[in-house]
Amino acid sequence: MKAIVLLSGGLDSALALKIIQNSGVEAVPVKFTSPLFSCDSGNRFHATIVADGMGMKLIEIPKGEEFIDLIRHPKHGYGTAINPCIDCHINMLKRAKELMPELGASFLVTGEVLNQRPMSQHRKTLDMIEKEAGVTGLLLRPLSAKLLPPTVAEQNGWIDREQLYAMEGRGRRPQLDLAAKLGVKGFSSPAGGCLLTDRAFASRLRDLFRNNPDANLRDCEILKTGRHYRFGADKIICGKDKTECKILRAWAKPGDWTFDPISDKGALVLLQKGMPDAAGVSQKFSPYDARFVNSFAFAAALASAYCDGDSPTVTISARCKDGETREHTIPRANRNDFKNWKL
Ligand code: SF4
Repeated sequence: MKAIVLLSGGLDSALALKIIQNSGVEAVPVKFTSPLFSCDSGNRFHATIVADGMGMKLIEIPKGEEFIDLIRHPKHGYGTAINPCIDCHINMLKRAKELMPELGASFLVTGEVLNQRPMSQHRKTLDMIEKEAGVTGLLLRPLSAKLLPPTVAEQNGWIDREQLYAMEGRGRRPQLDLAAKLGVKGFSSPAGGCLLTDRAFASRLRDLFRNNPDANLRDCEILKTGRHYRFGADKIICGKDKTECKILRAWAKPGDWTFDPISDKGALVLLQKGMPDAAGVSQKFSPYDARFVNSFAFAAALASAYCDGDSPTVTISARCKDGETREHTIPRANRNDFKNWKL
């Protein structure tokens, strides 16, 4: 008997995986990946570390471009930021169900805990998620199973219900105690995880959606890097360290400009051309200021603000991805000058 275990890399799904492994059922850990999920340790997902620690190979499945549509138009709305958790769960369960024949699995397992999350783990919501995903009865939640109706795995005797748990609520103590008892290691901290639950990231993502109707996952990914500013229809990003500056330089597309201070050491600034048809919309959200005549002046001034030294002027080299290069010596700006445009 085999079960697909949805493994995020957090404590609860790691426990669910261990419980299934201990039950004698063959557990197949699957992680749905996205660049908007930062739950990794170095270059490895916590889910990989957890699966490795139990002698299993993690199957990684990208959520893909369709995930952007789901974020933009969630049927069941958002959580505290721009996290469409209910739709996201439904989508993952639907896709996991589709994988069952291919992987020879007879049921699905998640680490969900009843009433742990306000939006997606109430009893009614759990039932609704199962129904919309078409997995009613197929989905076992071992941490709260004794508080939920028996699933096919229990009814058919594939899993002994008595060996399952009756956890509920937001506290993590019972799970941490169980992890220590079962020797489960390598899971992520509760703070790690999905960027869609981060309010600062959500504000950048909303700005992207307003200004670029064709935004794809890659456009969303760059929101993780640097300080972001919206100036009219244009986007300006300032690197925070060497690695980020390198990423931003590589990111420049035809029509974009990069700004490097050459009289002092400093950060690279990327000016991305706006979407022409979105200009009217974005200006509502980002009023112009007389100090900056255009986004080019804004980006150059930003580069002057984020470089070392204290001379009154800074020389900036501006390069267009299309080939044109200019040099400007401008007054050194103050970092506070830009806060009205910061996302
Ligand atoms: S926290 Fe993020 S990955 Fe998890 S269900 Fe919500 S939207 Fe999906």
